[in-house]
Amino acid sequence: MKPPLVIANWKMHGTRAEAENLARRIHNGMKDLRHVEVAIAPPFTALATVADVLRGGEIQLVAQNVHWEEEGAFTGEISPKMLRETGCTFVLIGHSERRHLFDENDQMVSKKMSALLRADLLPILCVGETLRERKKGMTRNVISRQLRAALKGVSKNAIEKITVAYEPVWAIGTGLTATPDETSHAHRWIRKVMTRLFGSTKAMRCRILYGGSVRPENAAELARASEVNGLLVGGASLKAGDFLRIVSQFV
Ligand code: PEP
Repeated sequence: MKPPLVIANWKMHGTRAEAENLARRIHNGMKDLRHVEVAIAPPFTALATVADVLRGGEIQLVAQNVHWEEEGAFTGEISPKMLRETGCTFVLIGHSERRHLFDENDQMVSKKMSALLRADLLPILCVGETLRERKKGMTRNVISRQLRAALKGVSKNAIEKITVAYEPVWAIGTGLTATPDETSHAHRWIRKVMTRLFGSTKAMRCRILYGGSVRPENAAELARASEVNGLLVGGASLKAGDFLRIVSQFV
């Protein structure tokens, strides 16, 4: 298994100057990265600035979104090639804010998945159920549907390039967090679906992250929960000190 991965998702926060400052504080505060991989997803406008801060170091650059076409008349969109040129290694796809606020569906996520793999970028596929779906006992069905749709057509050999982030929608930005038990259950299910699709050896190579109101106070128990291979951190990654404390749970 690869080392755990902790990602800072800054969402739509920060000017370039603020992003530079925050990236520098995280970069300088990172002491021992032998046991953990760290990555930062700034807004598009700050990607190049943050890439400059991180150049030559071990922290990776992440894009928060991508379009599936290589180029063309797609006003406002950004292609995989453009992200690679800017220095991105990873790209988030299927984030619940994209699915729920911008009507992204499983088919769109699937096209993004294929485009990223073609461009040699590493997809971070976000999946997770809403509170209504959880209350109706649909958590497993929703996760299976999202995984199967996004991974349709993905070859066995490509699977280790993919990271899955389990992000229950009801826990994102709400202050509610899945318990370590709930998290482990969902992660085990994700692993099971991946095993059915690609076999256990390949499925074991794929990291499964948890995301949803991770804070320095709850990071330790989530980091220790079984089947958790890292964390995707939104709000708490906007403070360098908080993010560094979260990362330190894996060191
Ligand atoms: C996220 O953006 O993926 C996320 C988990 O946000 P937060 O940590 O703020 O809930």
